Amino acid sequence: MRALCWHGKGDVRVDTVADPEIKHPRDAIIKVTACAICGSDLHLFDGFQPTMEAGDILGHENMGEVVALGSEVTNLRIGDRVVVPFTISCGDCWFCRKGLFAACDRTNPNAEMAAKAMGHSPAGLLGFSHMLGGYCGGQAEYLRVPMADIGPIKIPDSVTDDQALFLSDIFPTGYMAAENAQIEAGDTVAIWGCGPVGQFAIRSALMMGAGRVIAIDEIPERLAMAEAGGAETINFAETEVYDELQARTKGRGPDSCIDAVGCEAAGHGAADAVIDKVKASVMLATDRVHVLRQAIMSCRKGGTVSVPGVYVGMGDKLPIGAAMNKGLTIKLGQTHVQRYTAPLLEKIIAGEIDPSFVITHPASLEDAPEMYAKFRDKDDGVIKVVMRP
Ligand code: NAD
Ligand code: ZN
Repeated sequence: MRALCWHGKGDVRVDTVADPEIKHPRDAIIKVTACAICGSDLHLFDGFQPTMEAGDILGHENMGEVVALGSEVTNLRIGDRVVVPFTISCGDCWFCRKGLFAACDRTNPNAEMAAKAMGHSPAGLLGFSHMLGGYCGGQAEYLRVPMADIGPIKIPDSVTDDQALFLSDIFPTGYMAAENAQIEAGDTVAIWGCGPVGQFAIRSALMMGAGRVIAIDEIPERLAMAEAGGAETINFAETEVYDELQARTKGRGPDSCIDAVGCEAAGHGAADAVIDKVKASVMLATDRVHVLRQAIMSCRKGGTVSVPGVYVGMGDKLPIGAAMNKGLTIKLGQTHVQRYTAPLLEKIIAGEIDPSFVITHPASLEDAPEMYAKFRDKDDGVIKVVMRP
């Protein structure tokens, strides 16, 4: 089959590789009908993740048609149309039973390596690094889905691929980010990053009763999409974000701050002015945590900082003293996707949201290398690329 393979920093290619096969009775194989490129793929593309190997197949936002089933998968039939969560979860360990699917204890075959780096091993993830299991992704014609009796959700004919696909990741991710922000009716929520995750966080925060959402980015098309979703905006390239947030909240700061940027902020100096302001020279870090620092500094006392943005490895020099003295709650993590697929599918069916609003670039799998570069460079008004292998 054809598949998008990682070959090194900034080097992804569509190669011909072996078709996937059923390896375990709980596996399914799907013929991929739609897959997307995620901001998390960019961290792999940009070489932030050291445990990648040449030839790894990328892609964790996938849906398709079931074409083969292991003997223990009794909830699916050949021909079913399914969306596949990027988190691989057994459904039965201590963590899965608590709904902490991204913390599944059983699905990372490289758990020992992960535990050395992180203290404990999180779940295996489709199409990520070897630290997170080394599973093949679905930017390909076919995908092996482990634990297929737990993850994939069937999609009714009334819902299109473009409407359903993002149940695999970014809709649940934006939704969980808003849940983690502990929003109370009427709250002001600031969201850094108007990429696909930020866009779903904006709409989720408003669904949860936020009074105001203030969205921060520098890209005009993304700021315009945020406004169309009901947010006020700040262009961080033109406006000093900390000052502006204080000015718009009577000097108190937003009730909740969501970092939907993550490692992406490498090289951006947006928070440096804040750091100067508090004369916290000890925080002048080399690392990629500008947005998170800015969120912590901006958030009101007793507020909540929610971090769906992905960080890898060490990112110290956070203003932990500010977080402590202001009494902040900080919540972060990979999304427990399986917890959200069914309820969010209901919202799509009920017409509360049509997730296809975020798609700007429909493409084919062969376009993938060009689309990765475009999505990384934010060229051509790209917000979300969806490929049809
Ligand atoms: P993206 O790269 O399309 O969007 C990031 C946005 O942040 C861009 O629009 C960029 O212009 C903006 N940005 C950069 N620096 C900024 C700054 N200083 N202030 C404000 N905005 C800034 O990515 P995406 O697909 O929206 O993903 C966003 C993040 O969410 C990534 O880190 C990704 O890895 C992460 N993610 C996490 C999960 C999860 O399970 N927690 C799932 C999916 C994605
Ligand atoms: Zn993703």
